[in-house]
Amino acid sequence: MTPAIEPGEHAVEDLLGRPLHDLRISVTDRCNFRCTYCMPKEIFGPDFAFLPKAEVLSFEEIERVARAFVELGVEKLRITGGEPLVRRDLPVLISMLAALRRPDGGELDLTLTTNGSALRKLAPALRDAGLRRVTVSLDSLDDAVFSAMNGVDFPVAKVLDGIDAAIDAGLAPVKINMVVRRGINESSLLPMAAWARETGVILRCIEYMDVGHSNGWRLDEVVPAAEIIAAIAAAWPVEAAEPAYRGEVAGRWRYTDGGGEFGVISSVTQPFCRDCTRARISAEGMLYTCLFAADGHDLRAILRSGASDADFTDAIETIWLRRGDRYSEIRSEATSRLPRIEMFAMGG
Ligand code: SAM
Repeated sequence: MTPAIEPGEHAVEDLLGRPLHDLRISVTDRCNFRCTYCMPKEIFGPDFAFLPKAEVLSFEEIERVARAFVELGVEKLRITGGEPLVRRDLPVLISMLAALRRPDGGELDLTLTTNGSALRKLAPALRDAGLRRVTVSLDSLDDAVFSAMNGVDFPVAKVLDGIDAAIDAGLAPVKINMVVRRGINESSLLPMAAWARETGVILRCIEYMDVGHSNGWRLDEVVPAAEIIAAIAAAWPVEAAEPAYRGEVAGRWRYTDGGGEFGVISSVTQPFCRDCTRARISAEGMLYTCLFAADGHDLRAILRSGASDADFTDAIETIWLRRGDRYSEIRSEATSRLPRIEMFAMGG
């Protein structure tokens, strides 16, 4: 069988003309935090059954998956979870992924999203293995607010120390994901923006999303992107900046006084499905073509059935060619009650 596409040709587009550009790979469904909006501890307690090891993709399987996606045009890989840094020997996987090349011979944009708790220990090894950048999630600089949100009383200072370790290791620019929830951490927004301006990290404010079902999401807890931008613009003058590439999730804003930039991810109030070029692989090898998907495609079954590389790449190409997802554009009261996979399981 011939390869799905020739090297150098990477134009696989879905039913809405969207190319396959980004792949998010979840390396574990486990996490050491219990964020109220993602893995609330009332549901994900000590008895919760996470995936047994045999069901989680091995590093060799993850590398094979990534290689197939790169052949189909993916240029950006993001490692996520669960908490990716709880996966044992993660730098080994990073070095395997860093060795992959695009069909034109170029390097991949390889990055990782983490809660930052283990960065002090792991940042140098990750950088040496070939990781380029990191995004660290941090919802407040106020310990009381942050503890209430992370569910395990994790101190802000330890995340800040992890961010310093990432910067020291050269994993820059560091981006900071902040989920903004009405009545919970809105008051943390301006202190976070001021801190980001001072330290040179890039703050990205995320609208609270209706992913999964465990978080009891309500629309009135979403702080709309427009409100976030207005609050920051009232403190420092800002102007809109161009997206870095088609499908970039964050709307970008630049401080006109030279204080850097910030981003806003407005998945709820200004959906960007039209430009969504992302695929997601869960820790057990399910391929999801939308963050709000109810079900996925079992790539692990294909991998473990002895399929050739060419057949495996073909199967992924067929799935992408048939993709028509645009959940956020058609979101309504009715759709928010439909079954959905939890974000920690799919890979955020
Ligand atoms: N454990 C890692 C971390 O903390 O960054 C990676 C996985 S986490 C699921 C990825 C991102 O999803 C985090 O920035 C988290 O804040 C965000 N997230 C989780 N649930 C969310 C929700 N309901 N709405 C918006 N963002 C959410």
